[in-house]
Amino acid sequence: MAEVERERMEYDVVVVGAGPAGLAAAIRLKQLAAAAGSELGVCVIEKGSEVGAHILSGAVFEPRALDELIPDWRERGAPLNTPAIEDRFLYLTKNHALRLPTPPQMHNHGNYVISLGNLCRWLAGQAEELGVEIYPGFAAAEVLYDEEGRVRGVATGDMGIGRNGEPTERYTPGVELIARETLFAEGCRGSLTKTLSERFGLREGADPQTYALGVKELWEVEPADHKPGLVVHTIGWPLDKSTYGGSFLYHLEDRQVAVGFVIGLDYKNPFLSPFEEFQRFKTHPAIRGFFAGGRRISYGARALNEGGFQSIPQLDFPGGALVGCAAGFINVPKIKGSHTAMKSGMVAAETVFARLRGDTGGDSAAGVREALQRSWVWDELYRVRNIRPSFRLGLWGGLLYSALDTYVLRGRAPWTFHNHPDHTQLTPASQVPRIDYPRPDGKISFDRLSSVFISNTNHEEDQPSHLHLRDPAKAIAINYRLYDSPEQRYCPAGVYEIVEDAGTGEKRLQINAQNCVHCKTCDIKDPEQNIDWVVPEGGGGPNYPNM
Ligand SMILES: Cc1cc2nc3c(=O)[nH]c(=O)nc-3n(C[C@H](O)[C@H](O)[C@H](O)COP(=O)(O)OP(=O)(O)OC[C@H]3O[C@@H](n4cnc5c(N)ncnc54)[C@H](O)[C@@H]3O)c2cc1C
Ligand code: SF4
Repeated sequence: MAEVERERMEYDVVVVGAGPAGLAAAIRLKQLAAAAGSELGVCVIEKGSEVGAHILSGAVFEPRALDELIPDWRERGAPLNTPAIEDRFLYLTKNHALRLPTPPQMHNHGNYVISLGNLCRWLAGQAEELGVEIYPGFAAAEVLYDEEGRVRGVATGDMGIGRNGEPTERYTPGVELIARETLFAEGCRGSLTKTLSERFGLREGADPQTYALGVKELWEVEPADHKPGLVVHTIGWPLDKSTYGGSFLYHLEDRQVAVGFVIGLDYKNPFLSPFEEFQRFKTHPAIRGFFAGGRRISYGARALNEGGFQSIPQLDFPGGALVGCAAGFINVPKIKGSHTAMKSGMVAAETVFARLRGDTGGDSAAGVREALQRSWVWDELYRVRNIRPSFRLGLWGGLLYSALDTYVLRGRAPWTFHNHPDHTQLTPASQVPRIDYPRPDGKISFDRLSSVFISNTNHEEDQPSHLHLRDPAKAIAINYRLYDSPEQRYCPAGVYEIVEDAGTGEKRLQINAQNCVHCKTCDIKDPEQNIDWVVPEGGGGPNYPNM
């Protein structure tokens, strides 16, 4: 195919990803420019068809960063409509629920039950009022470098390349977005962030990042079952004691309940299916009552970071920085990362703005990481750094250690536990029991395909698969033979299927890429790190309403 000249647009700062981190960064940049009376061109690109379309969170939102960014958010109508009024923390056995004292990190007084997608839509409006240009439906597919190896922006993917790699009549070349500084706010396991980390060695000196998968549904329930502001978390059943995870159940406004299940991706049994654990959880006698007579509105899934303090990578590289969950600032015991994501975006904006104006006291390399070390994000994550890794001791060991760390050591233990990569944790299928999941009843529990249907996932069908196998032979030689193809079960959208060739009887991996909800789990959990998730055509993927 002949080289096609790409259109080029120039900005001072380009932000990749319109999540809380990217939007907070863009807003802060424009606020600083306005205060200094200077012009600053800021652009945000987002792969979802609209801002919020790919945002999936709990969410109970701690407004600390928003208070700093937009102190008059109430007057401006931010969608924080439901104050958290009651916390319940339950331990489940198969048939019973035992109420435990709520750990201090999980007290939500002063927080709000929200849709993070809707908060992002509102933040985007605030950013646009300040003059930020936001382009949803454009996926950043490539990092651009100058001759010295400095990042000089990103290019969006070409549209209209067919399944066979050849341009179709829809073909439109990608656009080059050139910037003096580029902030990567792609969220957990960003695809360009992955290439930057490799190129600049950003993970050197940090523990491996670790992850969980969150699977979530939004329900409309009977008025009698609805208690706006109620926040319920459970641990225990249906997981065994060595698998980290639990559920959340958040009552929002308008009779809506967000329910989800989070499972640490360091789980060992390749037969485990996070999707089916979630479906099974909803059938518990203490839980199913919330949903009887209700209606499921939406479904989705997304990975989240769990590595915490010891897994924070280098954030700075020539020409830009990582912000938010692209780097990983989730406070795991709190199960919250949107406040820290926003704050990291704001701190990065302040650092980059100073650098662009030459206000760095002569230190042109003054970095985001150093600035963040002086912020409350660093202190908050430092104090809880040992809690998640302590669950390697099992559920009770982890709970006991967490109580000791919180109440006695107060996060100041003279040691730091380390993290291990999730993809190395699977046990071969021959050494573990199979897990038999009950069939869905179609009322409280559902199958994967009907679930993906209500995630409104849509990809242009005639395009190359965005799920690349580095070595296709490993799919059968290793994944199937050794682990019974765990991707069939961990993928919450049923993208990966082992099928038998009718003629030869041979097994092969079929990839139904059009169902992908962009959770990134396959990129994380594949035991051989053989799967690379890259962006499909912009606008493809889920279309979440208010997740
Ligand atoms: C199940 C679950 C429950 C959670 N519960 C809570 C909670 O209750 N409270 C809380 O505070 N936090 C919670 N979190 C964490 C919180 O959602 C994240 O910390 C937060 O969303 C991170 O913000 P971000 O802006 O860094 O990334 P994201 O919110 O992931 O946003 C990234 C954006 O970038 C876009 N993008 C990615 N790559 C590209 C690309 N190459 N080109 C263009 N666009 C791109 C994505 O489409 C997305 O819109 C939860 C997370 C999950 C998964
Ligand atoms: S293909 Fe990968 S990224 Fe897509 S839904 Fe499945 S596990 Fe998630």
